[in-house]
Amino acid sequence: AARPRSLYSPDDPLELLSADTAERRLLGSPSAWAVEFFASWCGHCIHFAPTWRALAEDVREWRPAVMLAALDCADEANQQVCADFGITGFPTLKFFRAFSKKAEDGIRIAHPAATVADLRRAIITNLEQSGDAWPPACPPLEPARDSHPISQRGDRFQVALDLLQYENVAVRRVLSSEEELVEQFGVTTFPSAYLLLRNGSFSRLPVHAEARSFYTYYLRTLSGVTRGSYRLNITGSAVNESRALQPLQADRSKVYVADLESTLHYTLRVEAGRPAVLAGAQLGALKCYVATLAKVDFLGGFGLEVLMVVPTRSRPSVLQASPAAVLPTNITWVGCRGSEPHFRGYPCGLWTVFHLLTIQAAQGGPDQELPLEVLSTMRCYVKHFFGCQECAQHFEAMAAKSMDQVKGRDEAVLWLWSHHNEVNARLAGGDTEDPQFPKLQWPPPDMCPQCHREQRGVHTWDEAAVLSFLKERFSPGNLLLDHAV
Ligand code: FAD
Repeated sequence: AARPRSLYSPDDPLELLSADTAERRLLGSPSAWAVEFFASWCGHCIHFAPTWRALAEDVREWRPAVMLAALDCADEANQQVCADFGITGFPTLKFFRAFSKKAEDGIRIAHPAATVADLRRAIITNLEQSGDAWPPACPPLEPARDSHPISQRGDRFQVALDLLQYENVAVRRVLSSEEELVEQFGVTTFPSAYLLLRNGSFSRLPVHAEARSFYTYYLRTLSGVTRGSYRLNITGSAVNESRALQPLQADRSKVYVADLESTLHYTLRVEAGRPAVLAGAQLGALKCYVATLAKVDFLGGFGLEVLMVVPTRSRPSVLQASPAAVLPTNITWVGCRGSEPHFRGYPCGLWTVFHLLTIQAAQGGPDQELPLEVLSTMRCYVKHFFGCQECAQHFEAMAAKSMDQVKGRDEAVLWLWSHHNEVNARLAGGDTEDPQFPKLQWPPPDMCPQCHREQRGVHTWDEAAVLSFLKERFSPGNLLLDHAV
């Protein structure tokens, strides 16, 4: 029989354990671990996998205090280790306190019918009862005089865990019963959050909603708050132009023509110019790309100039067909400028160009299929030309999974938005992240409060609001030609 494929991939923010690693990672560890023992052939596990993955996303910033893992017991090589951990049915969820000594120390946690919020609460509850086995990386528990039941205390504790990897900020909870402090801060609403600076001044957090995701986002993006030393070991070399430029002040609500032009220059003159011979599917991909640019024609007049792509045994002729007067020959990143030359730049520009293309193709016009064509053009371009091969493989894997099922114009726009967010989530905390531009689920709450919802403590998107936000952001009226130096 064919070997079952695992339900999780190395890209998921959880550790896939094996016979070789399970005991070594789970026992004697300074982290607490929540582990799913699963069998890839089991229907329940297949249905449960999205929840476990969503939980892993939800608590990814809690590492290394709390780690999430999964172990495939259907893999014959893992049979013995699963037996050692006493696993008889699937999925089985277990919590291992920090410094657990034996496989039997694992504590069974919530039934797999649980939601992300239930599971998160189960982790918090077990963590709070850890006593001497407190993970060293974990923030301190509430003050001893806290008389609230653990289940209620957990809610605010989560914000502290969410900020775990961030430096220069600490989260503490004050109870309504602590009258002196309540009076000192002039607190009238519970819950509410206040920012206390080192100089003693304080102010209420100006958040749209008094909820975990709003607090967390606000605190993480405060000036001076930076991600700490715990970095995820993600490799992947994004292609960037190495140019040290003076900082430019970009308005992050705008899209800059300089970024779009720089990206077109880089795609057409650098990446498409790389292959010694351009033929077959690769040539087809370039023709598609150029044809899509011409059809959407978002820079006005540019497309017509590059329509002629002819096969050649030497360099592609796009170079000759796009006169310098129309498309600048230099690179200037404005909205896509990184804090250092190796950050952001070209890959940021490529996302921006394709978001713009899908959205402008979706806005009116007789060609209903154009937004879908833009998506498949992007897929082809990335596959055949995008210099970061690992990125291209990841993108192709996402596209192969669901791009063909995209039906309407708006769906095409949302597909690219949600898959870009999937990439953002995967790369958050990795070594390609510009510390000044943390990878966020986008648009963040301060840019689009109406895009965000919290249902029973779990974040969800209002997709209709996201769609109108995207349409506005990438509208021709929001393109900026000038930038202040
Ligand atoms: P980017 O992610 O490049 O985003 C650019 C801008 O788009 C942001 O500044 C923001 O204004 C806006 N934005 C952010 N999210 C969204 C969204 N969901 N919808 C609409 N607009 C949004 N790097 C890797 O290390 N590994 C990879 O596997 C990888 N795969 C990639 C695949 C593709 C197809 C592309 C184009 C890039 C990939 N990259 C990968 C690069 C990475 O995604 C970033 O582009 C790069 O790290 C620069 O990040 P950034 O901070 O400029 O933001």
